[in-house]
Amino acid sequence: MSSSADVVRSFRRMFLNRSLPYALQQRDGAYHWIYQRCRTRVVQAHLDGGCTVAVSSADEAGWCRWICLDSDAPDGLPQLVRLAESLSYWGFPGLLEASRRGGHLWLLLDDPAPASLARHAIKGALERLAGEGVPVPQVEVYPNVDSAEQLGHAVRLPLGIHQKTVVRYPLLSAQGKALVFRSTEAALSHCLEMSRIPSQWLRQGWASPLPPRAVGDGVAFAGTISPVIRWVDAEVSPLDLLAEYVPASQMRKAGKGYLGWCPFHDDRAQQEDGSAGTPSFYIVQDARYGWSWRCLSTNCRFNAGLMKHSFLLFQALLGVDAGIALQLATVKWPEREEAS
Ligand SMILES: [Zn+2]
Repeated sequence: MSSSADVVRSFRRMFLNRSLPYALQQRDGAYHWIYQRCRTRVVQAHLDGGCTVAVSSADEAGWCRWICLDSDAPDGLPQLVRLAESLSYWGFPGLLEASRRGGHLWLLLDDPAPASLARHAIKGALERLAGEGVPVPQVEVYPNVDSAEQLGHAVRLPLGIHQKTVVRYPLLSAQGKALVFRSTEAALSHCLEMSRIPSQWLRQGWASPLPPRAVGDGVAFAGTISPVIRWVDAEVSPLDLLAEYVPASQMRKAGKGYLGWCPFHDDRAQQEDGSAGTPSFYIVQDARYGWSWRCLSTNCRFNAGLMKHSFLLFQALLGVDAGIALQLATVKWPEREEAS
């Protein structure tokens, strides 16, 4: 019981920018601000279906813990799923949720960031994606405030019941399929396990350290990405990195790619149902995007989002931040200098 209460508390912390006020959805679908604290028991009531809570998209100082992209065009949901896939590919995984007319894509930050910065960064990212030919749907961006005086637009917390339609809209997989959970706690855990986007990246103009590379007819964000990262992603195989740093991963050919033991979580452990662990680290080489990888286990921090590239693997295997990994890469692969 206490563990499930902990999960609700963590869920509340993840989504509440401020505890006062919060909004309650009325039977007609409208929201009324309530000038009381949104305590854990209010969030619990939302999950139980006793009321439907929406939370302010910014705190008292005009900062936010998340960015929510809200699409309610007629074909808004499939478009939002594609956008989520693109953002995830560039290193920004998000939590997808169906809504009455379309969907919400929640991009969760690891630390609060100024709402104006978050808005600026996501709008810049969407413009860049559009510039790369990715179809970007019309979306509302929350937080929608630029100053601390304004109360951010209230966004309905996931997993509640819409008061007007009396439907509990589901969380969605990366492919846009409704996810089915054994329990509310399992659904909350899914939210909590979602990768958080480092707020630092917003300050760097949404410059993800997981860039695409210019290989084949692939695309690259010019300028913001270190040429060292681009070179490592294009030239270094994750198979070689694992063979060098974690030979115990035992990567083997599997289907189109390679599968082995994950260096980042214990996939050898026996499963809850008593079955043996299975290798879950997946690497694939694609004609268009080159080498990429991810962990297929939902227990792993490298599961969220789509595919990741070699530089991130190098950095994660060494357990250092991107700046140090850059320096180490320069030393490790001096041939890059000759190539450039
Ligand atoms: Zn893993």
